[in-house]
Amino acid sequence: MSRTEPGKFLVDADGWCADACRMASPNFDARPAGVNIGLLVVHNISLPPGQFGGPHIADLFCNRLDCDAHPYFEQLRALRVSAHFLIRRDGSVIQFVSANERAWHAGVSSHRGQERCNDFSIGIELEGTDAEPFAQIQYQTLATLTVALQRRYPLAEVAGHEHIALGRKTDPGPFFDWDCYRQAVKRQAPLAVTNEILRFPPANAALRR
Ligand SMILES: [Zn+2]
Repeated sequence: MSRTEPGKFLVDADGWCADACRMASPNFDARPAGVNIGLLVVHNISLPPGQFGGPHIADLFCNRLDCDAHPYFEQLRALRVSAHFLIRRDGSVIQFVSANERAWHAGVSSHRGQERCNDFSIGIELEGTDAEPFAQIQYQTLATLTVALQRRYPLAEVAGHEHIALGRKTDPGPFFDWDCYRQAVKRQAPLAVTNEILRFPPANAALRR
């Protein structure tokens, strides 16, 4: 199993990761004053659905998607969305929005009674679908990025988009292995920043070994 080295993806004071490929999205605004950035939200996305490796996700987040290029894209024409990060199938990372700013990834959402999760969360998209396993390197990268973000922000909990938009969203879906993610964080993080502080959703029953 490949391992990304601890210390990678360190986030600077401006909220940018040096080790991520930076593609600045215009789809962000300021977080409310004094907000506690305590939640990490995991998503999946692929464009067109089920196809990997193309430029379309980044194009969507940067408002330059050619909506005539595929029939599915028609419904995305008016969409203005973003996430802070995208982890591709090969484990490479693109950052679209500074983690200090509010990206537009969660939509109508609620976490422990607190609405508008975009205000207080960091959104990470994994290139993938609800219908097939994610790549192992994606878990490794996600864990390394999680640990790096923990060093900069008071993250207390991780949730899936499906957990904060119940009945409306299904990602990252039944093939996302929460236990694999949690174990990868545990391996990479020193005790002070492990899952004793960061809470994860329960392991997916369908994937439990
Ligand atoms: Zn999502």
